[in-house]
Amino acid sequence: MTDYDFDLYVLGGGSGGVRASRIAATHGARVGVAEERYMGGTCVNVGCIPKKLLAYSAGFGHGFEDAKGYGWDCGVNRFSWPDLIRNKDAEISRLNGVYRRLMDRAGVTIHDSRATLVDAHTVEIADGQRFTADRILIATGGWPFVPDIPGRELAITSNEAFHLPDLPRRVLIAGGGYIAVEFAGIFAGLGAEVTLMHRGTAILTAFDHELGVRLLHEMKTHGIATHLLTVIVKLEKTASGILATCNNGQTYEADCVLFATGRKPMTDGIGLAELGVAMDSEGAVIVDEDDRTNIPHIFAIGDVTNQLNLTPVATAKGQALAERLFAGKDRHVSLENVPTAIFSSPPIATVGISEEQAAERGLSVKIFKESFRPLKHRLSERDQETFMKLIVDNATDRVLGCHMIGDDAAEMMQGFAVAITAGATKAMFNDTIGIHPTSAEEFLTMRTPVAASM
Ligand SMILES: Cc1cc2nc3c(=O)[nH]c(=O)nc-3n(C[C@H](O)[C@H](O)[C@H](O)COP(=O)(O)OP(=O)(O)OC[C@H]3O[C@@H](n4cnc5c(N)ncnc54)[C@H](O)[C@@H]3O)c2cc1C
Repeated sequence: MTDYDFDLYVLGGGSGGVRASRIAATHGARVGVAEERYMGGTCVNVGCIPKKLLAYSAGFGHGFEDAKGYGWDCGVNRFSWPDLIRNKDAEISRLNGVYRRLMDRAGVTIHDSRATLVDAHTVEIADGQRFTADRILIATGGWPFVPDIPGRELAITSNEAFHLPDLPRRVLIAGGGYIAVEFAGIFAGLGAEVTLMHRGTAILTAFDHELGVRLLHEMKTHGIATHLLTVIVKLEKTASGILATCNNGQTYEADCVLFATGRKPMTDGIGLAELGVAMDSEGAVIVDEDDRTNIPHIFAIGDVTNQLNLTPVATAKGQALAERLFAGKDRHVSLENVPTAIFSSPPIATVGISEEQAAERGLSVKIFKESFRPLKHRLSERDQETFMKLIVDNATDRVLGCHMIGDDAAEMMQGFAVAITAGATKAMFNDTIGIHPTSAEEFLTMRTPVAASM
């Protein structure tokens, strides 16, 4: 036993912090966790879960449209945004309770408060109480970044988008990352007039380039106005909405302006700089392969480290850290082949490397592609293409990358991620019998490479 109040004190009750504290407590550690805002963090409250619920709602709109071609007369009388938000909030409250109960049962002490570091072994919560801990874990996540332009206070971020009182009629979204395109699909699917503006020449640049190109095409086809190389420089309130002025002099009026222009690690004002914890130029905590900062008993996981900002990565890191520290297990999380999805309309999912990454790494690869109108959309009036792509290593025949845009992409990609993590080769894909009739079987029938790099 040590003289400290806790064996581990965790700042932040989000995906990473909750998992780390619960697993550490399960292994007998005395654990305290401070959560200043909402139990479960971004994912549960203003991220993955409410976003997916809203995307489901938007998907029903498309479903009613598709159903016509299948003989259904779907006269939809009404969509109620307040009903959607109320039901979404009820589900989130349930999840908040689940997280809290899991931690209570494991014996974690919860402080519903902001916490700051007073010294390398002491934290202080909002009422002034101080607690000492043998080890400290920083799991404070990230926060949306809004550029400093005149009128920025008129804009919202993803945080507020989940709590709007009504569905805005005209939505202007700034950004070209996954959060921007997801909200574009959600608001458009629910019936709003959506304009997406992005400062770059392409969207979704963190992914295989063809996914962004094809999503942009789908968005345009389905009524979302898109403007590349366009930056909002000023926002002003008008009698009828918010007027956005852009770098090219164009103006656009909207009822809601949403900035999805990136997120910053939450490292300000919690005592890290004062203690000399090393951070990068973005303010992300720098950690080694053991999630250790430059102060050996202070650790950091999740979005605050800005490595791969996804919930399953934060939870896996939290689990592995707790097991290393308190269960004597040598567990580490690989950030190779982490599958991910974008719940845009249509959705995107991907695992492994992109064509651009293959080129950067100097790999000799074959590229297989397939683009088709899926069976479901044969009878529906909505024209929607599915696109699939495989990157195959010439030296080993291993499938290094698997990418898709189209219905059910996320559900499909999870299984392919197992295959790719296990080192599946293209020959194995070819030998696997497909499930017919599905879109997924097309991943197994691509026989002729469309391109190769030597
Ligand atoms: C709109 C949106 C959609 C997303 N969709 C997906 C998705 O589909 N799939 C996916 O995998 N990921 C998604 N993400 C990313 C995912 O939410 C994050 O990667 C994940 O939540 C990171 O977990 P974390 O534990 O690092 O931080 P968080 O979940 O952000 O938790 C950090 C917690 O720390 C608390 N905190 C901060 N400072 C303090 C302090 N000083 N004292 C006490 N508490 C503090 C915060 O209140 C917060 O609750 C999405 C994110 C957003 C914003």
